Amino acid sequence: MKRRSFFKLGAVAGAVSVLKPINGAQILGSSFEGKSEGPIVLSTWIHGLEANRAAWKVLEKGGKAIDAVEQGVKVTESDLTNRSVGIGGRPDRDGHVTLDACIMDEQSRCGSVAFLEGIIHPISVARAVMEKTQHIMLVGEGAKQFALDLGFKTAKTPLPEVKKEWQDWKKENKDLFKKPEINHENHDTIGMIAMDSNGDFSGACTTSGWAYKMHGRVGDSPIIGAGLFVDNEVGAATATGLGEAIVRIAGSHTVVELMRQGYTPTDACKEAVKRIISKHKDLTNLQCCFLAIDKKGNYGAYSVYSGFNFALKTNSEDKMVDSEFDRNW
Ligand code: ASP
Repeated sequence: MKRRSFFKLGAVAGAVSVLKPINGAQILGSSFEGKSEGPIVLSTWIHGLEANRAAWKVLEKGGKAIDAVEQGVKVTESDLTNRSVGIGGRPDRDGHVTLDACIMDEQSRCGSVAFLEGIIHPISVARAVMEKTQHIMLVGEGAKQFALDLGFKTAKTPLPEVKKEWQDWKKENKDLFKKPEINHENHDTIGMIAMDSNGDFSGACTTSGWAYKMHGRVGDSPIIGAGLFVDNEVGAATATGLGEAIVRIAGSHTVVELMRQGYTPTDACKEAVKRIISKHKDLTNLQCCFLAIDKKGNYGAYSVYSGFNFALKTNSEDKMVDSEFDRNW
């Protein structure tokens, strides 16, 4: 779609959804909201700043959002100091660094890998699943074999210093069923969503998951509709935080569907957070965060607890933005 028709469609879609909310959905008043008139890339947490800059190199040349998000999150996957994304990530409770990632484009094509060990760029393996296979998701040994067959680079995990920390943790945590704690230190993930100059959306999400999780655990990040969802008619959303809670409400899909009904990105994220809150009696350490952008270039975020921020890059801005939230830690 050319730029002009994209803006026209955006305006029409906005007007229709405001006048006719689907299923009688309440259209909430907008709270925090930002807007970009051109391409835009948003990503979770402080590591998003650098990732966005890599994505921007694609977007500023008129490149496609799908290439931008892949290039963007690869920066974070390559960062060996990052303890929540890629091969520098913390292991599960048995000492395995298992990686989850997914990607989705403007045609609703998607690919995903989960429980993947020792591959430097899970996001590119996810893209290869999308582009080269008839499947959407490959996990574990099968995903690894696929990656090796395609010549993806490998690395030994965990990194020695990460292994040492895990060994220390293990000494203190012998109870197999002890609930691992999720807090500021032991979770993150990069979720990135972008709109290119053609008005097309894509997204990518990649993580080493919840530190010291059970062996075999897969979170929301590689699950299309939970950690990430893109619908080119509406926009895109991604999530970070306690994956189990995000999966329970099909979080990112919920956010996109709420935007389809006319909710602003912030209010859609807020409604998803409220739904999570209403389904959990115990909210201790239950941080969940959503980030979204709609077809008109409006963007916003909302989290259960304070402390979530996201990186924003447009023609005129390159900065961190604090998310709105339901409560303080
Ligand atoms: N959502 C990720 C997971 O549950 C972790 C995170 O974003 O902090 O694996």
